[in-house]
Amino acid sequence: MFVKLIGTDRVSPNPSTHATDGRIVFEPAKAFWLLSMVVGGIAGLVYYASWSAFAVFLMLSAVTLCAGHSVGMHRLLIHRSFRSPLWLEHILVYLGTLVGMAGPMGMIKAHDMRDWHQRQITCPPHPSHDAGFFLDAYWQLCCSFRLRNPPDFVMEPSIQNDRFYRFLEATWKAQQIPPAIALYALGGWGWVSWAICLRIAVSLIGHWAVGHIAHKRGEQAWIVSGLPVQGYNLPRLAFLTFGESWHGNHHAFPHSARLGVETGQLDTGYLVIRVLAHLGLATDIREPDSEPHREGLVKLTPGNSRGFQSHRLNLKIKNQ
Ligand SMILES: [Zn+2]
Ligand SMILES: [Zn+2]
Repeated sequence: MFVKLIGTDRVSPNPSTHATDGRIVFEPAKAFWLLSMVVGGIAGLVYYASWSAFAVFLMLSAVTLCAGHSVGMHRLLIHRSFRSPLWLEHILVYLGTLVGMAGPMGMIKAHDMRDWHQRQITCPPHPSHDAGFFLDAYWQLCCSFRLRNPPDFVMEPSIQNDRFYRFLEATWKAQQIPPAIALYALGGWGWVSWAICLRIAVSLIGHWAVGHIAHKRGEQAWIVSGLPVQGYNLPRLAFLTFGESWHGNHHAFPHSARLGVETGQLDTGYLVIRVLAHLGLATDIREPDSEPHREGLVKLTPGNSRGFQSHRLNLKIKNQ
């Protein structure tokens, strides 16, 4: 049966594209990178445990994950949910690169391909996290999903031709070296193993775990009707994820700089953007209502959540 594929800003299906015709491929370099960080991190825990190492680990984790990954990479570079001067954008994306997941282009592509898959009527198991906890960990942390005929992926020239982003993309793993030297000079191997290896291992595994759960269970205020993959809100992880765990809200309003869209939903990343705005360093901040609602978006109330369950069941049966 012919299924019309949806395109997104950067992803355009071509006539030969088939969204589910692909395979999961083991990526030795990706697995080795994670393994090195886990081993280095465990060495830190066993041989170099100290309060100072723990404090440096916490501080660098918070800065790279919140200002770097959430604000710089995700909300600014990938979604363009606000604007800021280029020098500041470069600093935020640099901090995001220090998370140790990928370079700027790699992050955009991984995010947008997953998003593109999740917007189709049928989504393959890998981009939808449709596996048990441990199998999905292996898939996401050690493998990639390769389509036989992938869609066209075109990044905007302002990013593609940015020399700093090209440099970060080519050297994203080596970007750990300068902070590692500084940490060694200040606190020895203990600081290096905690604030580089353990931090990267926790960031990568934590990022996967939140993504895994946020596509399976949690609270829902909105659904995108007609799609088999939905996002869920994980309120108890809002503090640790700097607001990224309001993933159901993100599926509903992907353009919004604010992820904790309801009153009382803690969203530290958004608070950082508000502070930047106060300093005149963030403008055009997009909110949920800054764009028309995406097609099929339905607000869930206790009354119609049951309707949603049967809707999901119908989709499952249809897709089998
Ligand atoms: Zn998602
Ligand atoms: Zn996103």
